[in-house]
Amino acid sequence: MVDMLEGTMKIVSGCAECERLWQEYSRATSDHIRLEGKLKVAALSYDPDQVSTLSALVQRAAGERTAARDAVNSHTTSGHADSASAS
Ligand SMILES: [Zn+2]
Repeated sequence: MVDMLEGTMKIVSGCAECERLWQEYSRATSDHIRLEGKLKVAALSYDPDQVSTLSALVQRAAGERTAARDAVNSHTTSGHADSASAS
């Protein structure tokens, strides 16, 4: 299950900021997917404590993923101008 928005991202190889932001997004995405998997297992095991804990973690991971994606998008749509001096 791949986020379709990934295909629209315009990452420039050689741009350090692109690479940094993309790594951050990749990490956030794999964290989110991993936690969602754990949550499904906990739900199938009828483990309410784990479901409660993991639900909070999944929500946070989803937020981080969205923020990372937005950071990539705002960087790429601004023409990579902020790679030297991020504001
Ligand atoms: Zn860039």
